[in-house]
Parts: sequence; C-alpha cells; structure tokens
Amino acid sequence: MSGDRHPGTPDGRRAEAPDGSGAQAPDGRRAEAAGGHHAVVVIGGGQAGLAMSHHLKRGGVDHIVLERHRVGHEWRSRRWDSFCLVTPNWQCRLPGFPYPGDDPDGFMRRDEIVRYVEDYAASFGPPVLEGVSATGLTTAPGGFEIRTDQGTFTAGQVVVATGPYQTPVIPRLSERFPRHVAQLHSGEYRNSRQLPPGEVLVVGSGQSGCQIAEDLHLDGRRVHLAVGSAPRVARFYRGRDVVAWLDLMGHYDRPIGSFADPDGVRARANHYVTGRDGGRDIDLRAFARDGMRLYGRLAGVEDGTIRFAPGLRRDLDHADAVSESIKDTIDSFIAARGIQAPAEARYRPVWEPAGEPEGLDARRVTSVVWCTGFRADYRWIRVPVFDGTGYPVHERGVTSVRGLYFLGLPWQHTWGSGRFSGVAGDAEHLARHLGSPGVPRPRPHHVPDAQEFPDAGRYFVHPELLGS
Ligand SMILES: Cc1cc2nc3c(=O)[nH]c(=O)nc-3n(C[C@H](O)[C@H](O)[C@H](O)COP(=O)(O)OP(=O)(O)OC[C@H]3O[C@@H](n4cnc5c(N)ncnc54)[C@H](O)[C@@H]3O)c2cc1C
Repeated sequence: MSGDRHPGTPDGRRAEAPDGSGAQAPDGRRAEAAGGHHAVVVIGGGQAGLAMSHHLKRGGVDHIVLERHRVGHEWRSRRWDSFCLVTPNWQCRLPGFPYPGDDPDGFMRRDEIVRYVEDYAASFGPPVLEGVSATGLTTAPGGFEIRTDQGTFTAGQVVVATGPYQTPVIPRLSERFPRHVAQLHSGEYRNSRQLPPGEVLVVGSGQSGCQIAEDLHLDGRRVHLAVGSAPRVARFYRGRDVVAWLDLMGHYDRPIGSFADPDGVRARANHYVTGRDGGRDIDLRAFARDGMRLYGRLAGVEDGTIRFAPGLRRDLDHADAVSESIKDTIDSFIAARGIQAPAEARYRPVWEPAGEPEGLDARRVTSVVWCTGFRADYRWIRVPVFDGTGYPVHERGVTSVRGLYFLGLPWQHTWGSGRFSGVAGDAEHLARHLGSPGVPRPRPHHVPDAQEFPDAGRYFVHPELLGS
C-alpha cells in the first residue's frame, strides 16, 4: 500500500478544492470549509465515483467527488487479510486504466487492489474531497442541494456512487446467542487471531461466508458453517478460467433488459469460488471431509442449543448442479464453435451428509461471523426515485428526475456493472447524459431484447444458473 501518499493528486500531495476552499483532507482529517456550487457532484470515491470523475475530467466538466473516508475505503477497510479478487485481474478495466500488472490471469490480493484503485486516482488527479459525508440530497432551484457534515454544496447534476454494500445485515437472531459469544460481521473480519480461542460458527455460504470459513479452517480453527442456497461455479474448466469462457460466450455483455426477469437476476446470490492460491474451486463437501462441520440454515438458539433448518443435502446438491450446468453450457459452446479444448472429467461429490445435522451446543462456540450480506442505504436521498423496496428506479443509472444518476449498482446494466469489469461502460453512458463534451451524445433510448442476442438460450448461461 502506498502509506500516506495522497491518491487524489497525481503527485500524492494534498489538493486544493476547485472552489479554492482547500477542502481536500488526507486520511483521518476532516475536510475544512467545504461547500460551493459545481456543475456535477459525484458522491462516493470508490471505483465507480472515480470512473465517473475520469470521464467528466476528460470532458472538462466542472465537478467534485465527495468521499466519506478515503479513496478505495471499502477495499482497504472492509476486507479480510487473505482477501483476493474472485474475478481475474484482466477484468479490472477502469476507464483509461486497465490492469497494469504482469499477472492478468491471477487474482489481486487486498492490498494490491487498494493500490490499483489509489494508482488509478493518481493517474488522473480527480477532484476528490475526502472526509466529507453526504447526509442529505434534495432537489433545489437549478439542480440539487447536497448537505454534508462539512457544509452544503449545490450542483446542476448529481451522480450517486456510494456503493452497493453499505450497511451490514445481521439478523436479530444474533441477540439470542449467549453473552460469552463474540459476534462480528464479515465486513469486520480480518483473520482468525482477531477472534477468541475456540470454535467458530460462520453463518452464510455466499462468497464471503465460504472464503472466511476456509480462512479459519486453514488456520486450524474448528469451523461450523451454516450453509444456505448460494450456487457455486468451478474456477477452471477445459483449460480455461470459467470467467474466460463466459466472456467468450458473451455473458458479460448481456444487458439486464434482455432477461425476462431482471429483478430476479439482480436478486440472485453470487456463486462461490475463490481466487486464493492462484484460483481454485470452493467445495464445501471437501471442507466437511477435512473436518469442517456443515449445517443447514441457522434457525434459532434455544436452551443453549444452536438450531439449524433441514436442507443441507439439498443445498449442496443444488450448488453442484449449478456448477455442472455451467460446464454443460461451456461444452455446448465448445462443440458449436469447434474449439480445441482438453476434455475434463466431471465433478464427483467427495462427501455426503449423513442425515440432517443435530443442533450445536452453544457452549462450544466462542464466536460467530455473520456473512449475511449488506444492504444499500439511501434514506438520506430525499428525491422521489425509489421503488417500494428502496431501490432506485433507473434505466442504466438514469433516473426519472432530470440530473440525478446512480452508478455502480449491481447489474445496473450488465453483470459487471457493480464490479471492476463493467463500471467503465456505465460511467461513459452517464457522461453522455450529463453532457460531457468529450463523450458523444446518447442515442435514442433503446431497451435491447432477446432478439438481439440470437445465441441466448444456446450459449448464454441461463439466469437461474448464473445469478448475479
Ligand atoms: C466481499 C466482496 C468481494 C468482492 N469481490 C469482487 C471481485 O472479486 N471483483 C469485482 O470486480 N468486484 C468485487 N466486489 C464488488 C465491487 O467491486 C466492490 O463492492 C466495489 O467496492 C464497488 O465499488 P463502488 O465504487 O461502486 O462502491 P464502494 O467501493 O463501496 O465505494 C463507495 C464509496 O462511497 C463512499 N460513501 C458512501 N456513502 C457516502 C456518503 N453518504 N457520502 C460520501 N461518501 C460516501 C464510501 O466511503 C465508499 O468509499 C466485491 C464486493 C464485496 C463486498
């Protein structure tokens, strides 16, 4: 990591805000005397906010980026020590800054990801005000008013890029664990040494739950894992990373509007797989064979016993079935295109549960890691653009309120929208709407349909199988 180097400026020095307020604050320091008017205010200085700034800066559009903490905060502060990307490095393609390293097929570790984001910022010097938290957004004459903990800004247009994973979700069931049990969310987990000695219950088997369970397991902890219905995907198949096959098959270009059930696609859980050790599968059955204890979903804590719902066998079978279905799709693609690819034996389960697991004596467990996800929190935005669930209604980030945009939402437009791979295209699309002179005007509004994806159903992995 680059220590105190300041990512908002090419040379790493503290930058002056364009309004002359000198409000950009280095780590740990509050911005002073912020405020003022800008043509565009971007809220959030993660990869999405930076990608937006890149396009605006290229087009010469007056703007400012407000960042509550520091550029790259999420990657720096909410990932565990052994964290690495699940997506291969070549998919890191922020606008004007493709992955610059020598391991495109590898998976950057946490500190390398932070450096990539910091280096991106340093490459073009976005006008970021760090240490400024937006606390209110309303419409105002000529645009918007953005209240912050450092003063009030006004803007003609606003891009909300505050990230999809804001507020940790911990079920209230957590209140029923005995007091001696230490509890933390996946966003707070760093390594096993942070937890008191003893056995650990990991709740949730999405990407984070599986990877944290493995991290604890490899560090010699006795791990109990409450498994849910998340699917899995193989890391490699027939000589390539599965991500590379899906890329060739056009999966990552497929817009959300071409799916019959866009909301369903957006809601699906990620597939579990890992980039650790150069990338490999995560097979919960192999974990169980090697000593991890697997259970169904966490159901309750009663009379000193942690109870789990039935369904472990079903969920393991489902995860494997999804992984094998994706391989089927790759096989069809290889056959149809006449691609030379080595044959590969299919997966055979290495462990089966012997009936439904019994409850777990709560006295054995000294800590619980909740890998139960995050939710977005837009309550501070007082503009009528949300649906009944609090999700912003938008068309590729463009809302019905003129001048208000969102960027970085999962499946905002494609699978990669909420990731490193697809945010560039969405930022460019918004830059056109924002009227950035460097970017051509938008074409008339157009919702793609399945007709434009003639291979859909033939090569594209069915959304049931690939989820979000
Ligand atoms: C566990 C995990 C693993 C992931 N793995 C991958 C992967 O392998 N590959 C991949 O491509 N993607 C991955 N992602 C998804 C995605 O790339 C990250 O979530 C990424 O951080 C999203 O970038 P962003 O800029 O949209 O949001 P964020 O990185 O969350 O940035 C938003 C920024 O906005 C700031 N902010 C929030 N609210 C305010 C406010 N009110 N005022 C001012 N500032 C505010 C925050 O401090 C933050 O810095 C992963 C996500 C998670 C959670």
